[in-house]
Amino acid sequence: MEGQDLVSLVVEIYKERWVALKTVKANRYSKVSWVTTIVLVIFHIGAIAALFNFSWTMLAITAVLYWMAIGFGIGMGYHRLLTHRSYKVPRFFEYFLAVCGTLTLEGGPIFWVATHRVHHQHSDQEGDPHSPTEGGFWAHMGWIMFGEAKHNDTQAMARYAPDLGKDGFYVWLNEYHYVPLVVLGLILLAFGGWPMVYWGIFLRVVVGLHATWLVNSATHMWGARRFMTKDQSRNNWWVAILTFGEGWHNNHHAHPTSARHGLAWYELDITWIQISFLQRLGFARNVKVAALPEADSERRAA
Ligand SMILES: [Zn+2]
Ligand SMILES: [Zn+2]
Repeated sequence: MEGQDLVSLVVEIYKERWVALKTVKANRYSKVSWVTTIVLVIFHIGAIAALFNFSWTMLAITAVLYWMAIGFGIGMGYHRLLTHRSYKVPRFFEYFLAVCGTLTLEGGPIFWVATHRVHHQHSDQEGDPHSPTEGGFWAHMGWIMFGEAKHNDTQAMARYAPDLGKDGFYVWLNEYHYVPLVVLGLILLAFGGWPMVYWGIFLRVVVGLHATWLVNSATHMWGARRFMTKDQSRNNWWVAILTFGEGWHNNHHAHPTSARHGLAWYELDITWIQISFLQRLGFARNVKVAALPEADSERRAA
């Protein structure tokens, strides 16, 4: 074969690969989940409206609601309790945490838990619902706007969360996950008018969504890796601050059932502080905790 032919053959092969790659990418973004996208646009507009209606009272109320929704609802509830069962609490408190979780607009407990269990099963591999190997934007919010996220298919999602699918309350909450948020919105509207809704609902939900999505995007791209896990997970301090401790994501992938994610003293993990406080009160039981290998040997030496 002449040199010229070989070059054109190689060019041809690469062209084909390039077209195939572009098709895969285009296909991924070809189907828009319109309801989700429109709701997200409305919430972002409401969040911007909040910035024109500032008051310290509203900021304070919003901060408390953010802590309830992201700290209690997602960190303590959906993630460490319902997905990984890293500790136990009385059933009524479990339900309370799950209701807090719905205030984030991240979907019902069965949807969230199932999606996250699939993420742990296929982290950064084929089948991961949100991996930055398919692009940072995809991992952050593309997957929820264009992906096969089956928010409302309780039956299909319950296959990945059979423990929750058996519980009538969780099945109901999964179907009607927006109800607690609507009720909260009406209460805020009654007491503080629309500016309070812009803050306590729209702005708070938008900041919470991006903070949680950063765990899927940023902590699979930026930060240190203490453990050589099979995935690309990283420990990221600023995501940990935004999410009450969920940013210590490499620790978490290495020890998924640990209720403690920040394993070193300098890794601030507010969710862990809260769980260990409940444990000391005797309210949280069967608390699973991973220890660093060095900490283990230190303890043995002492
Ligand atoms: Zn992950
Ligand atoms: Zn997890």
